[in-house]
Amino acid sequence: LIQLYIPLNFLGVLYREVKQSLTDLDKMFTLMGREREVADAPEARPLALQGAAVRFEAVDFAYDPARPILKGLSFDIPAGQTVAVVGASGAGKSTLARLLYRFYDVQGGRITIDGQDIRQVTQDSLRKAIGIVPQDTVLFNDTIAYNIAYGRPDATPAEVEAVARAARIHDFIVAQPKGYDTMVGERGLKLSGGEKQRVAIARTLLKNPPILVFDEATSALDSANERAIQAELASAARGRTTLVIAHRLSTVVDAHEILVMEAGQVVERGTHAALLARAGAYARMWALQHSSTRPTATEKNTHGHQ
Ligand code: ATP
Repeated sequence: LIQLYIPLNFLGVLYREVKQSLTDLDKMFTLMGREREVADAPEARPLALQGAAVRFEAVDFAYDPARPILKGLSFDIPAGQTVAVVGASGAGKSTLARLLYRFYDVQGGRITIDGQDIRQVTQDSLRKAIGIVPQDTVLFNDTIAYNIAYGRPDATPAEVEAVARAARIHDFIVAQPKGYDTMVGERGLKLSGGEKQRVAIARTLLKNPPILVFDEATSALDSANERAIQAELASAARGRTTLVIAHRLSTVVDAHEILVMEAGQVVERGTHAALLARAGAYARMWALQHSSTRPTATEKNTHGHQ
């Protein structure tokens, strides 16, 4: 019994961790034969996309009924625009992405894409429309080409190379002795955090979704890497409806709107300049993040002449 229990328990932990990190779950569900927590509505239709406008309408959500996380949360990401969410750890930022991808259903209010409640569309069509660049990308023990093409196995080598170039990881790949056939993952070449995020960006570009969710890595990248990832993100976000979950404020300065979350509610919203002028929670966070550190290259760019 103990022998049976341990692996099952391990799978449970693995399942939670993977779910937490917003990775592609479909394969995991199949491997583990687990029921999905959400099911297609009997009359579910494929999502009919226009510009992919995302709207959270008075959303309530709790993982545990005794502890509400989101309370009456509303915001819009107009088609093709970027909204960034900032706030302390545990404020509920990543929960927004999990709800949009429908890992869980909202308990009050609704989430719509182009006016369609995401509970009324097929999960397959919903998840095809959303590309997630997670904090920690899971790499399979396979070639780097396989890892980029994961989710689009029909992609041609030329397509894989094109997205690798766009995510600026092509030069790194061809510098390896086996190029695109280099084995990566636990038993192969270990990639840095920045390289893994580039693989995730390349994978997402290949999926070409109208909606992009970028869950910024909490672990600090060096400033050159951080600036590069930001540039790659900005190009990936062009023309897509984008939700950025930001842990470093330098990532959000160009967002059309920044939502500042505290304990499940938006306490401030606006552009970077408007929020600084307001001298409230965002301005305090900005001052805090920048008082103890040297200005990064991004800040230099943002402020022009330092
Ligand atoms: P961080 O910046 O640390 O990633 P966050 O703002 O993204 O934090 P969330 O991950 O959205 O925060 O979590 C919001 C709250 O929900 C936290 O208090 C967290 O402990 C709780 N929570 C998150 N996932 C679960 C879960 N699977 N089960 C129960 N509670 C959870």
